[in-house]
Amino acid sequence: MKPATFRYHAPATLTDALTLLSEYGDDAKVLAGGQSLVPILAMRLSRFDHLVDVNRVDGLAGITRENGHLVVRAGTRQRALERDESVAAHVPLLARAAPLIAHFQIRNRGTVGGSLAHADPASELPAVALALGAEFDIASERGTRRADAATFFESLWTTTLEPDELLVGARFPVWSGRSGFGIREVARRHGDFAIAGAACALAADDDGRLARAAIALFGVASTPWRAADAEAALTGAIATDVDAMEVAAAAVRGLDPTDDVHASGAARLAIAQHVVSLALSDALAEVRDAR
Ligand SMILES: Cc1cc2nc3c(=O)[nH]c(=O)nc-3n(C[C@H](O)[C@H](O)[C@H](O)COP(=O)(O)OP(=O)(O)OC[C@H]3O[C@@H](n4cnc5c(N)ncnc54)[C@H](O)[C@@H]3O)c2cc1C
Repeated sequence: MKPATFRYHAPATLTDALTLLSEYGDDAKVLAGGQSLVPILAMRLSRFDHLVDVNRVDGLAGITRENGHLVVRAGTRQRALERDESVAAHVPLLARAAPLIAHFQIRNRGTVGGSLAHADPASELPAVALALGAEFDIASERGTRRADAATFFESLWTTTLEPDELLVGARFPVWSGRSGFGIREVARRHGDFAIAGAACALAADDDGRLARAAIALFGVASTPWRAADAEAALTGAIATDVDAMEVAAAAVRGLDPTDDVHASGAARLAIAQHVVSLALSDALAEVRDAR
């Protein structure tokens, strides 16, 4: 199938992009890597009169370090997360999540901002952002605002972004000191969206006591989901004493995934528990080995 007719705009500056989004409002859609939007348009699941292609917008891509954060501009390709040494050094969870996204051909085009704005609940990057406590910089003609990952993802494919707003970047906190990270998922085939996945981040004090713990699940609810009870159980524990299986059981308590063509809700729940135990074990091992 072919998409319905639209008018194509390719602004070169942020100001011009925001003017177009303000002018056309609900009738316009941002086009980034096109890896989710183009299939949606081609299958006529949605249609827009105006597409605002942000690929040429000056300064919308790049990765920088800023005051304890790694700032990833929205137009940065997902592939860059795997290749940029500062990502592996400062936010290892991001570097480890990227290869799990689709196939490298898709990651060569797909953007970090596109993945966050599209907000597929089975996506890796929204879950990583949620686990690490990332913030998002958003711009419109009305001004700029900063949103927390904890409140940005509202429901299936829905965020707090308004039609005239552009996501311009994501600020990932650098968890420095004695820390450990893990991300695991199960998908039917390499490159498919996860049936269920889990991202885990831990930070310990010098005695090996966990000072911070974050577990975010993906593929199990209408948004990425934070396992608050399991995090509370981990906080204050000595890393070497943690029973990952027990914490994983607590992490999925309260979840009720629905059946779909890929897996029954019960299977998804069992897989979720399994991937939490693996991601947590990876993170615990890293904390134990960290100096
Ligand atoms: C076969 C296949 C397998 C895939 N598997 C996975 C997977 O395992 N994990 C995963 O996470 N993803 C997967 N994807 C999706 C892929 O990661 C997309 O790249 C991503 O979802 C969207 O990024 P994009 O840059 O291509 O955005 P686009 O497709 O261009 O846009 C997606 C949506 O985000 C909006 N948008 C984009 N950028 C902005 C912005 N800066 N501000 C505001 N709104 C914006 C668009 O308007 C649109 O609504 C897969 C895709 C395919 C085709």
